[in-house]
Amino acid sequence: MNGLRFECQPDCAKCCEMEGYVYLSERDVTRIAEYLGQRQADFESQHVYRTRHSRRLRKPGRGKQCGFLRGKQCSIHAVKPVQCRLFPFWPELVESAREWKQAGAMCPGIGKGSLIQITTAVEVADEMRTAYPDTYA
Ligand code: SF4
Ligand code: SF4
Repeated sequence: MNGLRFECQPDCAKCCEMEGYVYLSERDVTRIAEYLGQRQADFESQHVYRTRHSRRLRKPGRGKQCGFLRGKQCSIHAVKPVQCRLFPFWPELVESAREWKQAGAMCPGIGKGSLIQITTAVEVADEMRTAYPDTYA
């Protein structure tokens, strides 16, 4: 691949609704708690499932994937987790034409917009490796 096209589409929240977990960097936990005006410990006990090597948002149940989705809007958009902010520029997607194409079946923004050089896309995706070192170890 020489480049990728992507432009997020209005009134779309498919990536927030797809089956999966929303992982958090340590910095995400601090920033979101601050944004919500909560003590970090309270935010964590209410919203975060923590294991030895990772942290993720708890699912709200009733088939919903994320408790911060309001209609088609992210209620913590200004401080949303790294994986949400960078999607679809995740290493596993930008480094594989097949995975990128597969993600395009879900995300209507893939394949739209101006061409982004692959080197730029890879650089953006590197932030995922920094934010989630255990996932990409
Ligand atoms: S699925 Fe794609 S187009 Fe839709 S909100 Fe997510 S990134 Fe944007
Ligand atoms: S945190 Fe926001 S952007 Fe991320 S999945 Fe939840 S609603 Fe979507």
